[in-house]
Amino acid sequence: MKKENPIFTPPELVADWQALKRTFIMPENDSGKAKLVKYMEQILFGLHDFLKAHVGITEEISLKDLSKNFMDTRISKNPQKKLADVITDLIVDIAPHAVNVASPYFIGHMTSAIPFFMVHLKTIAAALNQNVVKVETSKVVSVLEKQVLAKIHRLIYNKSEDFYNEHVQDTQTMLGGFTEDGTIANLTALWVARNVLLAPKDEFLGIEKEGIHAAYKAYGIERCVILLSKLGHYSLKKACGILGIGNQNVITIDMGNLKNIIKEIKLDKKTAIMAVVGIAGTTETGTVDPLYKIGEICHENNIHFHVDAAWGGPTLLSEKYRHLLKGIELSDSVTIDGHKQFYMPMTCGMVYFNSPHVLDNIVYHSNYVNRPGSVDLGMKSLAGSREANSLILDSALKIMGSGGYALLIDHGIETAIKFAEEIKKRKNFELITAPQLNILTYRVFPHSLKLEPPSKELNQKLNDINRTVQRLQREAGKSFVSRTTLNDIVVLRVVIMNPMTNINILNEILDEQEEIYERNKDCDCDPQ
Ligand SMILES: *Cc1c(COP(=O)(O)O)cnc(C)c1O
Repeated sequence: MKKENPIFTPPELVADWQALKRTFIMPENDSGKAKLVKYMEQILFGLHDFLKAHVGITEEISLKDLSKNFMDTRISKNPQKKLADVITDLIVDIAPHAVNVASPYFIGHMTSAIPFFMVHLKTIAAALNQNVVKVETSKVVSVLEKQVLAKIHRLIYNKSEDFYNEHVQDTQTMLGGFTEDGTIANLTALWVARNVLLAPKDEFLGIEKEGIHAAYKAYGIERCVILLSKLGHYSLKKACGILGIGNQNVITIDMGNLKNIIKEIKLDKKTAIMAVVGIAGTTETGTVDPLYKIGEICHENNIHFHVDAAWGGPTLLSEKYRHLLKGIELSDSVTIDGHKQFYMPMTCGMVYFNSPHVLDNIVYHSNYVNRPGSVDLGMKSLAGSREANSLILDSALKIMGSGGYALLIDHGIETAIKFAEEIKKRKNFELITAPQLNILTYRVFPHSLKLEPPSKELNQKLNDINRTVQRLQREAGKSFVSRTTLNDIVVLRVVIMNPMTNINILNEILDEQEEIYERNKDCDCDPQ
């Protein structure tokens, strides 16, 4: 991308022991160090100015054009660049073509601004390079992890003082675990549910050992299903694929009918219900299932109740809004993402279990790590090697306090409510799903078209309008809302988690959408 100076050829870099040693134990030379410090200082202490100046869609360059610069598939034998040059490349060539998710105008996804201290903490965690798979490579971090897990478990299940005193550092029990992300957290919860349902009995050694065929035979069934709320996340389908249940056995239902549906399925003796999954904040609309009701029905029927609170979990930190998740304490397991509303850097998932013993159903030992009775956290987790995300979460909880997080949660929900009111007031828009948490959906609905009777054709037309508006707004590069389809209606989706996003900004975004519509209503734009 950059022109080489034809007269000056830099001394060739070589991969020798001297260079290698330097990369391990000594900092770069002074000019390299100066460059690193300059950028790191901006990143560590002026993160948002830095992002504003360096990151974001500032020009319309297509991915296809960009990809032309990323064609070389050889690894050079000798080093190509020094650290200072690599850093310059990252800042000058890569960052501007990344996405400024920290902008308060970027309100389309669950990825947003993070507090600057997260970058410091992530750097320290990287520098310590602990591996929490086992005590031998993490020591105090393993006990700290158990403590943090107990803190969040308490937030969800609020058991007795004695319960937490007993289990916080018990090497035999576990209250949950860190995972790579929400997908793996959901998978882990269903893995446990599956192994509990198809546990060893009589001669049968359990599904984990003998596999699905032997398990179904031992239990006299032909199929396992999970019942999932309508807007459930697709990660639950992946989980059922991996677990051998089959993803077409994920049955999406209206949770209002749960009781009858369970009754019906139970008539068929060949089908077992492995779990019911309620969502605390669906990815598309932020809707929360009636967790208390679901919990009661699952208890009556002795069915594993999993709550996917990947998004909504931290709402529990808000005294004002934690009631929205009432019933989560009746669950058997809960998924929460750290990289969503705990505002941690990518990525951190977590899964929690009501019973401190239930993770025994997925225990694995090996001779060199994860010995029985040790604190080795890798014994009961899908991942082997794992970073010390607990260090980041624990520090963040100390820096923010539950009150700090509550401010973020409350701001998101209350700004979403204000935004919904604004949308309802405007003649060229229609609110589709009102916010329960901090997510809402709406669409451009020009008032001239509101006079027409509802029809498939009209909906089609509106769908095209909204696809076009969303695309053109994204390409203009100032604001970003996302787009999804609910019951054949193309909607604009807004997630409000950036504390700098306010109603004025949201009004600007609506103004821009109106303008884009007005400018393009007569053109035959390709809505894609
Ligand atoms: C984000 C999300 C997931 C998946 O989490 P990842 O961390 O993206 O794997 C699952 N369920 C819900 C409700 C989510 O919002």
